Amino acid sequence: MTRKIVGITCSSSASSPGENARQYLNTTYVKAILNAGGVPVIIPNIVDNELVESYISSIDGLMLSGGVDVDPKCFGEERHERLGIVDASRDSTELALLKRALAVDMPIFGICRGIQTLNVALGGTLYQDLPDQAPSSIHHQQTEVKIPRDQFSHSIRIEGGTRLKTIVGRDEMGANSMHHQALKSVAPGLVVTAHAEDGVIEAVEGPNHRFLIAVQFHPEETAPHDKYSRRLFEAFVGAL
Ligand code: MN
Repeated sequence: MTRKIVGITCSSSASSPGENARQYLNTTYVKAILNAGGVPVIIPNIVDNELVESYISSIDGLMLSGGVDVDPKCFGEERHERLGIVDASRDSTELALLKRALAVDMPIFGICRGIQTLNVALGGTLYQDLPDQAPSSIHHQQTEVKIPRDQFSHSIRIEGGTRLKTIVGRDEMGANSMHHQALKSVAPGLVVTAHAEDGVIEAVEGPNHRFLIAVQFHPEETAPHDKYSRRLFEAFVGAL
């Protein structure tokens, strides 16, 4: 059987004195797709609608990886004073890829920034600075309190009757947390499928699509030791 190709979006940095501009991705994403049976391909941030067509016609599924904050101009808001780093080339590339992938109902899996990009692409909005706009006792940036990226720092409650529940097979799962932003208003067409204990949205899905699931946590980091995290990648690759 031919293995299916997963296009994975990536981060980019501008050039600075002594440093070339770069396009890059954590290896954990690549390994999670390989281990689930897919063939990972990294899609660079090159804004060109014709290339977006070429990429979408060459892949079987689209995975949106984590990264910097989404620019609030993408959802019609002024910048919050504590907005983090943004990347205009990445915003444009991912929004264009998503538009095309949604139009052809390609399976899509979003992780961390990916849930945010997906929500914005469909008309939703984000908290630009979660600690200021939705204060909580949970540290959604666990590395600030020295919890390693591959360890859980909070749990999420999964809604019944959702595809996420079917995939994971339980009402609750552990989640790591490395996000500065989170979903505020949920886009039309998306359903919230999991929350953290403080009410932060941790997963959404599009019930009218072949496979449209996005999570705020990073299952690619915990997949090596957590079967529930692995099930997300297996379900995604299995849907291609
Ligand atoms: Mn979280």
